[in-house]
Amino acid sequence: MQPHPGTKHCSIESLSPARRGSASQRELPLKAPVFNVQKFSLDDGPGIRTVVFLKGCPLRCAWCANPESQLAYSQLEWDGRSCRGCGCCAAASRAVTLAFDEDGLPQVSVDHAALAAEKRQPQVAGACVWGAMSLVGAEKSVDEVVAQCLQDKPFYEQSGGGVTFSGGEALLWPDFVRQAADRLHAQGISCALETTGHAAPEVFEQVLDAMDILLFDVKHWDDAAHKAGASVDLARIKDNLRRAFASGAQVLCRTPVIPGFNIDPSLSASAVAATADGLAAHILDAWQAAGCSGAHGGKAAEKPRLQLLPFHQFGENKYKLLGREYGMEGVAQLSAQDVEPLAEALRERGVDAFV
Ligand code: SF4
Ligand code: SF4
Repeated sequence: MQPHPGTKHCSIESLSPARRGSASQRELPLKAPVFNVQKFSLDDGPGIRTVVFLKGCPLRCAWCANPESQLAYSQLEWDGRSCRGCGCCAAASRAVTLAFDEDGLPQVSVDHAALAAEKRQPQVAGACVWGAMSLVGAEKSVDEVVAQCLQDKPFYEQSGGGVTFSGGEALLWPDFVRQAADRLHAQGISCALETTGHAAPEVFEQVLDAMDILLFDVKHWDDAAHKAGASVDLARIKDNLRRAFASGAQVLCRTPVIPGFNIDPSLSASAVAATADGLAAHILDAWQAAGCSGAHGGKAAEKPRLQLLPFHQFGENKYKLLGREYGMEGVAQLSAQDVEPLAEALRERGVDAFV
């Protein structure tokens, strides 16, 4: 997928030490851009969890349901339904322009990178009194995030839950995540990482070491297809999947089932078999290379676990708010029933798959 013109691809290596929050910056309070701290989540690991969503992702998946997570800084969403065309936002920054279409309706466009360079996102959002502009993401310190997470400690204890770090890609902020996880562990709180696995080995291990649970994306088994659909190579991700299995953390692989990307849209028996063959071989290869037995829930697991996530369209409107084109427009959503034959085929191939 081509990035939006205002989109800057970031990679973990390309971030400066100050952005990564490196050891040389540790005397300063560590901060990272957070776009949501979602409480009472039941879908991001066991029990009741608080999910800390960090901004910034090195991937660009066409089906991404959280496009507001991709840039590693705060940005604006513009809702044309509430816009009155007053121009106050454009007056607040040169990175914002207001025009009117042939029907006389206002159209505001934002150069997100230029606005971030000006650091004027809050001023522009504040200039709109009509509620058409909203700010996505804010720099938060480890102290702030940990304090928010600790508010729900009784719920974690009752439900076997904890805190999940997600994104974007939380591995873009390894020192932040590591420090927050260490602080939560000190309070007896279980920590999980939801990750693409796209990180340098030393970065991955730095964070892995502090995690009890890994929710590891497995998007595709073929390198060329992975690069075409998600914009990055597969080799490093596969190597980190092996590291995850070898670590002793609970590992749950998760595959978004995307028509036209990792399964033929026909969902025919041969399409299901082809996807199951590819996914199973990929996961079992990493599992065996890790010498598994990874410990799952304290018991030696016999098979790697995989959750299938049927394609949905929940993120479509977010592309409009960000002024971006959506590459999956009109693609039919999948139901759990649509995907169940794939789970069955994976189980036949030695992967403990479920929808
Ligand atoms: S890895 Fe996740 S957050 Fe990043 S672009 Fe893909 S779907 Fe979006
Ligand atoms: S300030 Fe708000 S209402 Fe006015 S043009 Fe900008 S987005 Fe529209």
